Amino acid sequence: MKALVYQGKGQIGVEERPEPQILDERDAIVEVTLTTICSSDIHIKHGAVPKAVPGTILGHEFTGRVIKTGSAVKKVRPGDRVAVNVETFCGECFYCRRGFVNNCTEKDGGWALGCRIDGGQAEYARIPFADNGLTKIPEGVTDEQALFNGDILSTGYWAAKIGEVKPADTVAVIGAGPTGLCTMLCARLYTPARIIAIDTDEYRLHLAKEKGLADLILVPGRDRIEEEIRTATEGRGADVVFEVAGGKDTFQTAWRIARPNAVVVIVAMYEEPQILPLPDMYGKNLVFKTGGVDGSFCQEIMDLTAAGKLDTDFLITHRCGMDQIMEAYDIFEHKKDHVIKFAIKPQNI
Ligand SMILES: [Zn+2]
Ligand SMILES: [Zn+2]
Repeated sequence: MKALVYQGKGQIGVEERPEPQILDERDAIVEVTLTTICSSDIHIKHGAVPKAVPGTILGHEFTGRVIKTGSAVKKVRPGDRVAVNVETFCGECFYCRRGFVNNCTEKDGGWALGCRIDGGQAEYARIPFADNGLTKIPEGVTDEQALFNGDILSTGYWAAKIGEVKPADTVAVIGAGPTGLCTMLCARLYTPARIIAIDTDEYRLHLAKEKGLADLILVPGRDRIEEEIRTATEGRGADVVFEVAGGKDTFQTAWRIARPNAVVVIVAMYEEPQILPLPDMYGKNLVFKTGGVDGSFCQEIMDLTAAGKLDTDFLITHRCGMDQIMEAYDIFEHKKDHVIKFAIKPQNI
């Protein structure tokens, strides 16, 4: 089968690989029906994810059809359409029992797919702990609607939950890329009074506004971000801040625009260390919560998708087959052509 492989820092390429096999009784094999590229894949390509193993097939955000299951798999059966969770987890260890599946202590626990073990930018993928890592796609939900269930939408959902957004809050989201947009979408579930979206990309901001996700949009360099947010909040600052950009100064913006006692959720994955200027923030009594996602809510997210309460269709701006995946990486990495997300069909060659 054809697969997109991380070959080492700065290098990715399409390779011919054998189809995956069941290695453990809790595994399932899925035929990948749709896959996509995530900014984490770009971080891996840049060599910025230390635990990523060269030679691994990338891809941790995909849908599929189950074709084989190990003897201990109970929840899914061959033929089921499924969304794949970015995290594979045992469901039984100390962290899993508390819902903190990102820190599952099993060998393939946490974010392993498309990082330490072969992922879904391929025609087939092996999913460890399939009962935990696969969410059935109900009739009436398309693969495109389910594509982001296990990764960026899970991230937005998890962020909104740990951000403790309350009704009538002012929420600031730094970064209006795919995950930022998902964060706004999920924060809306908690009925904030307003969401303020901040990004240097005005196209993305306008998309956020047009889709009803952001009420106020601010562009660093054009707008005075801190002042605008203070004006909108009677001088206080945002009640909850989500830092989803991972840019050079965005962490500093995040804590500066937060009101005292706010929750600041760091969703972004940085490629460089960040400064935490404790003397400057003394007295502000902030609560920081850091990534990455605990993908423990895939079923809830699927239910909300089926009910029409979470709709990520608009994120798919580009579609292609596996034969164009290298061009897709180039477009996605360099944000060409107003790309938000690709939907890639691996089965076309
Ligand atoms: Zn991802
Ligand atoms: Zn576990």
